Amino acid sequence: MKEVEEMGYAKQLLMEEQARLYHTSEDAVCPSCFHDSGIKAFIKANRECNECSVCGKVARRPIAANADRVLEFFLDKVHRYYQEPVLLQQYVDRLHRRHDCK
Ligand SMILES: [Zn+2]
Repeated sequence: MKEVEEMGYAKQLLMEEQARLYHTSEDAVCPSCFHDSGIKAFIKANRECNECSVCGKVARRPIAANADRVLEFFLDKVHRYYQEPVLLQQYVDRLHRRHDCK
């Protein structure tokens, strides 16, 4: 039941992330802050905030999506396409560094 174990791992990571990001759950991210075309597309389809918490860009129309939702999307995408926990952890670390130095 390898698949179930991996699902459990992704879910556990997601829950840890959500717990860690709880106090910053109002953060939003814009497409310019990501290189991945899938994430850019997801953000563009889910824009609901006028300000990006990462790069500080502000607009009169929604340009950024909720960071937690983007992270959830990313976790799901990584799990499905890469099946590689190391890449996932690297991404999560990178996201945190971006949050720290905003
Ligand atoms: Zn941004």
